This record gives sequence, structure tokens and C-alpha cells, in this order.
Amino acid sequence: MLPVVSPNPPQSPAPDERPDLRTLSLSALQALVALLGEKPFRAKQLFRWLHHKGAASFDEMTDLARPFREQLARETQLTRLTADAVQVSTDGTRKYRFRTWDNRFIESVYMPDEVGEPAFDPDADDEDPVEEPLARSSGKPARVRRTLCVSTQVGCAMGCRFCMTGTMGLVRNLTAGEIVDQVYRVNADLRGINKGEMDAQRPLTNLVYMGMGEPLHNYANVKRSLDLLLHQDGANFSHRHVTVSTSGLVPNILRLGEETQVKLAVSLNATTDEQRAKLMPVDKKWNIAALLEACRQFPMKNGRRITFEYVMLRGVNDTDEDAERLSTLLAGMPVKVNLIPYNENPGLGFGDPGVERVQAFRRHLERRGFAAMVRKNRGRDIAAACGQLAVAGQERPRAR
Ligand code: SAH
Ligand code: SF4
Repeated sequence: MLPVVSPNPPQSPAPDERPDLRTLSLSALQALVALLGEKPFRAKQLFRWLHHKGAASFDEMTDLARPFREQLARETQLTRLTADAVQVSTDGTRKYRFRTWDNRFIESVYMPDEVGEPAFDPDADDEDPVEEPLARSSGKPARVRRTLCVSTQVGCAMGCRFCMTGTMGLVRNLTAGEIVDQVYRVNADLRGINKGEMDAQRPLTNLVYMGMGEPLHNYANVKRSLDLLLHQDGANFSHRHVTVSTSGLVPNILRLGEETQVKLAVSLNATTDEQRAKLMPVDKKWNIAALLEACRQFPMKNGRRITFEYVMLRGVNDTDEDAERLSTLLAGMPVKVNLIPYNENPGLGFGDPGVERVQAFRRHLERRGFAAMVRKNRGRDIAAACGQLAVAGQERPRAR
């Protein structure tokens, strides 16, 4: 057993014992509504307020009778996040720090991105902003992809050496309600700032589970959040527009493949176990061979491709030999490689290899026939690295 991964991570507390409406499935809401003596159709109505409109309070649910709303306020609770800080970048990126009810901080990052028209842009559904302008026919307006990167845990147990969130250890899991509420709070904020320019009800088009935490280490709550966000009476995201990223928890990769249709991203980050185990302790439990075997078993129907993320660390995993080994490892799999130039974290001792090295690495992969992209460095002017805003709000990083 990997020491950093507790088999029973701290469960998501709630302010009290009353059911948190935002975490309940539609069928659980139906049971609750029946218990409260209301007509069955009220459950769907309530579900739409919670997940389609993203209501922040019972007061907003104006077509529910006041006595029913008062009863809900007495007998249930509605966990919501409070935006504690928002940083806005010149490239449109908005970094939100949210405070939870127990005064923890998490971070969600909004990234708007122009993409070509679908007919000219086979990767238009893809989750990542990439460097190159995508092909677009003249004259027609660009489609804008509005992606939110959501957090799934406060901190993270996986302890990857280069990652700021990893320095915190796991504080607690987020509830499904706290995961989906990031989406609803950001939608509400975007509706406020961009009146008329976006889909009025649901500005966000894409979601990536790539914020703080390891989504597959909080599997049950992440799965529930996906069900809520993909529900047609809820936020109604398309599974093609939702990506879950993992550092490689093999059994739960297989479960995710069986139980959902969302896309998978795998943070590979190295090409030998010796190298990977030093960067990512999870490799000692599930090595590269086991991880790739799980990826091969991941259902690829509907043209689903796995994205392999590869954080490029200067002098650690950035040589042409690494690129060659990576091509050998991934040969024959329907994959995309996403190269992420390292966002430097003071004190962690890793560096960005620089544009030329990253591009040479990418060209090497392309010569071997891989679709390789370099992730755009978003919001450079507002904060250096993923996780920093939230980590700064709570525990001091553990000494390594
Ligand atoms: N825990 C999940 C998802 C969150 S991390 C996972 O590891 O996949 C999301 C991505 O950010 C991962 O690919 C991770 O390798 C990368 N990452 C972490 N710290 C980074 C940094 N400082 N610079 C660039 N990428 C980083
Ligand atoms: Fe956790 Fe992902 Fe950071 Fe690793 S890279 S410590 S898995 S958040």
C-alpha cells in the first residue's frame, strides 16, 4: 500500500446532518420530496433549480411555494461555495479561489478560448487550449470554448514532487455538491460580467477535472458530480466536453471507463519507472506498464482518445531520448499527447525547459506519428502555477 494514499480518505463533512440537496441524485430528491409530503413533480423542479439554473439559495426558487421552501430550509441544507478571491488575466483567464463552509480553500480556473468551426477543426471538442491558431474558414465568427478547470479535493494525497497542491497532503475530499457548485458559481459570475455575449443560462461549454486534487482518489463524489453535470435536466454538459485527469489510479481508471463516457487524461510525466517513481510516488503502486494496460482497456467507443499529459521539467524528462521512449510506450494506442511546460513553483526545485526544447520534443513525437500539442500557458500574468492561489490560503507546505 502506498503510504500517502489512505484507503479511507477523510470523508466530506457537511455543516450538520441534514441532507445536502446539491449532492443528491434526482432519484434521491424524489424520495426526499415524497418524504416531505410534496407532489412528485416537485423533485424535478427542485433538481432544475439546483443544477440547471444553479440556484445559490432557496429564495431564488420562486416557483416553489414559500411553505415548501421554508420546509426545505429547515430540514435540508444547500452547500455553496463563496468566491473569496478572483484574479483576472489579460488573456481572459479568471482564477477563482473559493472558500468552503469549513473555511478551506479550493481553486477553479476559467479559460476562454477561440476555436475554429467544427468542420475545420477535428479537435474542437478537445479540452485543452493549444498554442497554434486552429484552421478556420474566412469570414465566419470563431466559436468560443469556455472551459472550467475544477478541483475535486482540498489538497492531494498523491504527493507529486513538482506540484504545489501535492505539498499540502490531503485535507479532505470535496462533496459532489462542492464540485458542481464551482461550475454554477462561475456560470453565475460569467453571466454577470458578459451579459448578452454568451449562452445566457450556461456560459461554460467544457469542463476539465484538473484542479486541486486527484479525481479518482475521490471516485464516488466525482462520479456523482459527473452524473449531475451531465444530466439533461441538470447542467446538461456533453460527455465529449468533460475530461477527467488522473495521476494513474489504475482500478478507478477501469471503473471510470465502465461507468461513464467522459474523456480520460493521464498524467504520465515520465518514460521510465525509475524516473516516474521519483516524481510521482503513485508509480510505486501502479507502474507505467500497469497504467498503460488500464489505458488499453479503457473503452474507446465514439472516437474517444486518451490524452497523455506530460509536464516538461528541465533536465529531468525533456530530452529527445525521453521523446523516443514516450513514442515507444504509446505506439499503437489512439492517443494525443499534451506537453505542459512546467509552471515554476518556488522551492520545489524544478524548471521550465523553455520553448525551443519543448518544440523539439513535440516535433520528435510528431515525426513518430503522434498528435502532440503544447498547452498554452494561461494567465501567466496573474499567478505562476496551478494550485498556488488556494495553497497560499491554508496550511504551510510540508517540508519535503
Ligand atoms: N491530480 C490530477 C489532476 C490535477 S493535476 C492529475 O495529476 O492528473 C493536473 C495536471 O497538472 C497534471 O497533469 C499535473 O501533472 C500538472 N501539473 C501539476 N503541477 C504543475 C506545474 N507546476 N506545472 C505544470 N503542470 C503541472
Ligand atoms: Fe495530486 Fe495531480 Fe498534483 Fe499529483 S499532480 S499531487 S496527483 S494534483
